[in-house]
Amino acid sequence: MSAQQLVLKQRPELVRALCCGGTSEGLESILDLLLSWSALVWEDYLNICVAGKTLCFRTRELLDLAYSKGESTCCLLLAAFSHVLPDAQKDNLSFGKCSTLQNSLEMPTSATLTLLSDRPGLVTKLRNCVEGALDILVEKGFLTSSECEEIQLPVHTSSQQVRRLLDLVKCKGEVAAEVLLQFSKRIQKADVPPNKNNTFTMSASVAEYQKKLCSSISAQSHFLSTYSDTGKFSLDDIYTEGLLELGQTSTQKSLNFEDVVGAVGTLNMEADTILVSGEAGSGKSTFLQRLHLLWARKTVLLNYLLLFPFSCRKLNTEQQDLSLKELLFLHCCWPDRDQDQLFQFILDHPHLVLFTFDGLDEFKQIFSDDQRHCCPTQPAPMPVLFFNLMQGSLMKGVRKLVTSRTEAVPPILRQYLCKEVLLKGFSPDGIDCFVRKHHSDPGVASHVLESLWSNTALLGLCHIPVFCWIVSKCYKELLGFGNSGPQTITDVYLMVLQHFFHHRISKGNRLGKGWVQQYFDTIMRLGELALQGLENSHYIFSETEVQNGGVTEEDISKGFLIQSKNISFDGIHYEFLHVTMQCFFAALFIILDSNSNNHHTIKRLFQAPRTKGCLGILQAKKSDGPSTENPNLQMTSTFVSGLLSKRHQSLLLQCYPIQTLNKKRKQVVKCVSRGMQNHFKSIPRPIKGEKKSMHAMPGFVWLIKCIYEMQDSEVAKNVVATLEVEHLKLTYCNIGPLECTALAFVLQHLQSPVGLQLDSNSVGDVGVEQLLPCLHVCHSLYLRNNNISDEGIAKLVEKGIQCETFKKIALFNNKLTDVCTQHLAYLLKTKQNFLSLRLGNNNITAAGAEQLAKGLRCSQSLQFLGLWGNNIGDKGAEALSHALADSRTLVWLSLVDNGVGSAGAQALARVIQNSTTLDELWLSKNCITRDGVEYLVQALEKNSSVTSIWLRGNNLSPEEVEEFSLRESRLTF
Ligand code: ADP
Repeated sequence: MSAQQLVLKQRPELVRALCCGGTSEGLESILDLLLSWSALVWEDYLNICVAGKTLCFRTRELLDLAYSKGESTCCLLLAAFSHVLPDAQKDNLSFGKCSTLQNSLEMPTSATLTLLSDRPGLVTKLRNCVEGALDILVEKGFLTSSECEEIQLPVHTSSQQVRRLLDLVKCKGEVAAEVLLQFSKRIQKADVPPNKNNTFTMSASVAEYQKKLCSSISAQSHFLSTYSDTGKFSLDDIYTEGLLELGQTSTQKSLNFEDVVGAVGTLNMEADTILVSGEAGSGKSTFLQRLHLLWARKTVLLNYLLLFPFSCRKLNTEQQDLSLKELLFLHCCWPDRDQDQLFQFILDHPHLVLFTFDGLDEFKQIFSDDQRHCCPTQPAPMPVLFFNLMQGSLMKGVRKLVTSRTEAVPPILRQYLCKEVLLKGFSPDGIDCFVRKHHSDPGVASHVLESLWSNTALLGLCHIPVFCWIVSKCYKELLGFGNSGPQTITDVYLMVLQHFFHHRISKGNRLGKGWVQQYFDTIMRLGELALQGLENSHYIFSETEVQNGGVTEEDISKGFLIQSKNISFDGIHYEFLHVTMQCFFAALFIILDSNSNNHHTIKRLFQAPRTKGCLGILQAKKSDGPSTENPNLQMTSTFVSGLLSKRHQSLLLQCYPIQTLNKKRKQVVKCVSRGMQNHFKSIPRPIKGEKKSMHAMPGFVWLIKCIYEMQDSEVAKNVVATLEVEHLKLTYCNIGPLECTALAFVLQHLQSPVGLQLDSNSVGDVGVEQLLPCLHVCHSLYLRNNNISDEGIAKLVEKGIQCETFKKIALFNNKLTDVCTQHLAYLLKTKQNFLSLRLGNNNITAAGAEQLAKGLRCSQSLQFLGLWGNNIGDKGAEALSHALADSRTLVWLSLVDNGVGSAGAQALARVIQNSTTLDELWLSKNCITRDGVEYLVQALEKNSSVTSIWLRGNNLSPEEVEEFSLRESRLTF
């Protein structure tokens, strides 16, 4: 079908596509493109833009005009539609062969023509700095202040302001156009300030609404719900910065609020949604709450005029179909006047608006791509509205910040993400800072910190803020624990349970040993409510639901259930203090309920299929594998494992016969063992000549954590008894100190040594320490990109020298300095079977290399030494060379990108000359000149073992490169 026929046939769809959003941005963007391709002449454009016509009228005029101009204009028109419409809206349209973007055929011959041909790009580029452009044009005398005022009228969006500016400058002649083009070039170099706060676009009603929104957000975000009982701390008092890092990169810089929302780390320019992911309790909601508060105070994100905060937990409760407009105003803040005008402002200024959605994982429905909804005023069911917002079918251009548990992000959503930011909880300094904030008495704070540092398993847990909060809250119980403090998450939650019951016990009475029995009824009532909630992705309970569950006022007064602080609810609503608390109560219920059906519940918990399901939905389905995508089920099963640990038997025996407890325990052990067996079975057979390697499947770390919670070495031993791999790969698995503790607990029982690959996780120094118990079964440890510092290395070496099988370590991209090299030198000196040391991309200088050299001199085994991307310079290279001159083992050496010059090369030449084992020498990206290479060439004449020396990126001319390549084929440039 010809383009002309396509335009005619699809006329209603094309009109709807441009008009359904209610904003003229789409039409105007299409006109920009058509002008730039000379498909329209200036008069056509002015005709269509005449004031007073409706959007639909103008769109129809454009279609008529294109049709009358013929096939080629229609083809360009379709190409423009294809470029401007979001993908979602293109599904039902056909563009024939005209869907690709056109390039201008001719180079513009004047500045005014360039304004036309570059119009689409100029609109995008200038819309955030219209003010700056106007200032310059006024300063140079091309515009009057009244012309500027007219351009900046609040009725115009900033894109429209740029278009008006371009139209006006076009009439002011060549020089004016030239000035504007120069200005736009400067913007590319980013040296022009953006519009001041964009306030000039605000009408009085927008300003008023903004004020109301700010004060409502500020009121809602002032306190953390976990402190609601004490009323002691405001968010300002207690907020401690967590580690926020970009997902899937090797940079470990912690991001601030502006970085998270801004362009840093953007992978998909087309998408508007940013995901902040992390574990339960890692501080996602608190991060958002802080962001909201600071925005409301106008301290951060000043370029967003309006912020709409949503909670997916609350959106779940919405039964009615809503339009986008209703969603914004009903769920966030009701405008007192001019609602239509305000909504139009929002539609017209998407780049000034920020939406936040907390807890995507708590959203009941499965994220779906099926149902398109683009009309902002037409009601739709909540999931449809939400999914279309995420995809950009609705409110394209609005930044959306979404938080979710990492493992619960639906794959289909990932294509709509512009970037992912990982919230990794507190650093060790963060823990210190948090505990000191929590305890105003410095003596108590130091006491708590001391007991944390003496119990590294607990310290590992405290990287997750919610655990850190519990530990701080229950410090009296913690200090009373003596030497054997809490080790597992279950221990920590039992401690908080005890604390709450104790705290609220009437004065004079002490909590006796039989406290579980004493509060059995309360535990069961809350437990049932919790479990039913999890079964239905239900986290907010109305008063009636609470009453129907038999929960009494006294149960509520214990403090595990708190009033939902969302102000827009009718009547009182409750939620658990934190979702992990809900999981804990659900687990208690599963364990303590004598109903025989619980047998099935446990089975389902560990064997749920991989759907975003909940227990209730799963009941009907046959299960065939471990649950991997419902993090609350995983958390609950972790607690179930922990509660069935023999250590807690005496506590539960108060109200439960030992036979039944043992039966449940056996069942859980069976489920976990079977889950692990399934993992092992899924390992592909090794290709001949390759090591048998296992890449952890989703759920592997969870099962390991369940075993750890049970604290039963026999179970761990039996589970790994049949694992026969040489290499265990757990890269990008969100492994922090807590997971390291669990891994070491299980893996220490491996029958034969493995290479443990933990690259790109958040192991840190505390995690390294936690891994030590399994170091004797690791022949290699890969810890690239893991935030490890010298302190961690000191501990690693101390243990490593005692482990016969430990032979290789990779520490690329950590935070190592010269300080760690003395420990590593000691390792090389002491361990005469150590094979490989890789230290690339750290901060090691000449002094560090000199230290390392002391160890190298004594090593009779080291084969691989990698120092890529450090800064050892000539001096460092010389020190290493002296130490390696007599090496009979060195096979591979990398000093790439280390500031090594010819003096260094001269020293290395001596190593080459003497070596009979060296195979490859990597010296790329240094500053070696002709003289240095000359030494290398001469040394190679006396060496037959070296196969290649890499020299790409040194100080050599192309002629020199050619000459040396001819002289010595083993040099690679
Ligand atoms: P998530 O949303 O990831 O499940 P939350 O933000 O609800 O985690 O955090 C749980 C609790 O941990 C909070 O209620 C608070 O007590 C504590 N917490 C989390 N992040 C911080 C922080 N940055 N500063 C201080 N406390 C925090």
